Amino acid sequence: MNKEKIWLSSPHMGRTELEYINAAFDDNWIAPLGPNVNGFEEDIKSYLNSNGSGKIEVAALSSGTAALHLALILLGVQRGDEVICQSMTFAASANPIMYLGATPVFVDSERATLNICPKQLELAIQDRISQGKKPKAIIAVHLYGTPYKVDEIAEISAKYDIPVVEDSAEALGSTYKGRNCGTFGKYSILSFNGNKIITSSGGGALVTRSLEEKQKAVFLATQARDDAPHYQHSQVGYNYRLSNISAGIGRGQMEVLIERVAARREMFHFYVNLFDSIEGVEVHKEPTNDFYSNHWLTVIEVEESKTNGISREDLRLSLEAENIESRPLWKPMHMQPVFEGYPFYGTGLAEDIFKKGLCLPSGSNLSDNDRDRIKNAILDCLKK
Ligand SMILES: *Cc1c(COP(=O)(O)O)cnc(C)c1O
Repeated sequence: MNKEKIWLSSPHMGRTELEYINAAFDDNWIAPLGPNVNGFEEDIKSYLNSNGSGKIEVAALSSGTAALHLALILLGVQRGDEVICQSMTFAASANPIMYLGATPVFVDSERATLNICPKQLELAIQDRISQGKKPKAIIAVHLYGTPYKVDEIAEISAKYDIPVVEDSAEALGSTYKGRNCGTFGKYSILSFNGNKIITSSGGGALVTRSLEEKQKAVFLATQARDDAPHYQHSQVGYNYRLSNISAGIGRGQMEVLIERVAARREMFHFYVNLFDSIEGVEVHKEPTNDFYSNHWLTVIEVEESKTNGISREDLRLSLEAENIESRPLWKPMHMQPVFEGYPFYGTGLAEDIFKKGLCLPSGSNLSDNDRDRIKNAILDCLKK
């Protein structure tokens, strides 16, 4: 095959990443600390605060998964506790529950955002409480960049006094009612993995409400070392800090975040136009103007009964034949072998969306030629 691969979402460097890396080399800050780490934290913090989102602090970490793990530790989650988690998500949202020996309780999605369903969430909480086990936390996810129903979830969180851990790994640059995603949880997490809207080649961040909490997170992320001249430890620690090299890449990427969001949203509009005239395929859109998605990935749903029997999988294979990557949505956690037997509350909506849904190439670095190839492959498959 001589056609170059079109990826779902690939790294897209800006202009200054190498300058930050060179500065690290010049000063020999080749370590999981240094000026780029501090600078990256400041960059994220000032960005997240830009829409009046209030006082927050940011700890740069080695991954979004590490950030979720520390968030649950800071909330005091322990062996035997229960933690609610949106079922339709990437496994990294749920795995840290298992690291702590706690029990995940999965909750279905709702139609409008594909994220955690407020109704099923409340039913789950009431049922767990009636069984004598009040959940310790709610992990809610802004899937593919679309904010979850922030107000409804916050209301339930307040009503039952259960904190929200906001998984904003896919939603840097998205807003809800004008406020930035990544500022809504008791703790929030970001990811800078290679496929996310911006990348530090691998990395993440924990967003906290106070400096004290940030300092506690950094303490845990650097092996929980007590204040002593020798190595003294009175708690179990982790090696979760971000490298100063990676943070340099992250600093360069923060400078182009707004451009990257604009380019992803342009890809989304390209698909909206393309599918406008195609029966049986719906592009997933924000439900109202309260929701502003970075459109990290554009999601479509293929309704086989309206496409002359062409299924999601047929379309995926047609794209693959043209060396174009597309991918089914996240397979819900309650359907995963590793989470078999854990409680689930829902009506089967996530399962249905999983069956019909497809993520299309959405990178900020796709060319007009790439878009032409994607368009032709899609039309060839669906207009046959
Ligand atoms: C990517 C991702 C994570 C994990 O982030 P890493 O930096 O890859 O560890 C967590 N949750 C969701 C929803 C993600 O997409």
